[in-house]
Amino acid sequence: MLIGAGAALGVAAIGWDLVSPSLSATAAGTYLRPCGDVRISSTWQGHRDRNPPSGEPGTDYAVPIGTAVRAAADGVIVDRKDTTTTATGRYLALRTDDGNYIRYLHLRSSAVLPGTRVSRGQVIAESGASGFGSETGYGSHVHVSLWIGGTPLQMGFTNSVDFENYVQPEDPVPTHQSTTYAWNGVLPLATWTPIPVSPNFYYLAESSHIAKETGDLVIYLHAAGVTKGFQVRVVAETLDSSGRVVDTSVQPSLEIPATADTSPNTPTFGQYTLPYLLSGRLRLFAQIRALNAGIKVQRVIVKKNYWLS
Ligand SMILES: [Zn+2]
Repeated sequence: MLIGAGAALGVAAIGWDLVSPSLSATAAGTYLRPCGDVRISSTWQGHRDRNPPSGEPGTDYAVPIGTAVRAAADGVIVDRKDTTTTATGRYLALRTDDGNYIRYLHLRSSAVLPGTRVSRGQVIAESGASGFGSETGYGSHVHVSLWIGGTPLQMGFTNSVDFENYVQPEDPVPTHQSTTYAWNGVLPLATWTPIPVSPNFYYLAESSHIAKETGDLVIYLHAAGVTKGFQVRVVAETLDSSGRVVDTSVQPSLEIPATADTSPNTPTFGQYTLPYLLSGRLRLFAQIRALNAGIKVQRVIVKKNYWLS
């Protein structure tokens, strides 16, 4: 549910093909990193570039031993190894509900048995450095491997794909901070267009089913070429457990008229404010619509004060 203060949110079935990312069976952009936004010590490509190449290319997330490892998606644990032997050390394997297969290697311990259904974000293991018969066969990290649409035995262990291409981007607007994006596109006339907040990224906020987010969202826009005006609004998408958009809810739009001085070098300044509560799997993005031709947004600033509970 999403509550916007001062504005009841009607839920409308509106076509969003133009602005919604295409969420295919490969769950592009929905997986959770195992330990949050931490340093990657070796990329999937880095594993492939080794000499000899890695037998199971994946992404290495550098975290201290004992860090909680969280499931990338809803699914079922389908394999578990509890010995430090071989290059993998202890591992867990997750069959995700979207049909893919993920392995977490070099664990210190696993918290779930094969057959267990897990939720995205659930703690399933503790990170370690296990491998080659030792608790410290490596530097401490979590190695995550991903196969699309099959098991590693079916597809080949070396035919994994880059997990990082499938993760949910971290919130681009840190708590109690703002982010500024230079956006120099000319808006199409009378067309709702998504407002980017970083290169190729549109989302202002996202909540999972395990955390609620309460916040105040402010979008500042500087635009040139405004002779009539433009409109801004925020849209909320409700997602199902596979990350597919199942509902779309549109906030009332705010109209920002041209400033009195409409000479080309005088930017029009607009501000849209939204107190919000995200509960359940929801995400927000903003849209802009030009009321005259030739409007160019020069700068987008998004500021958020928010709290997770
Ligand atoms: Zn690795």
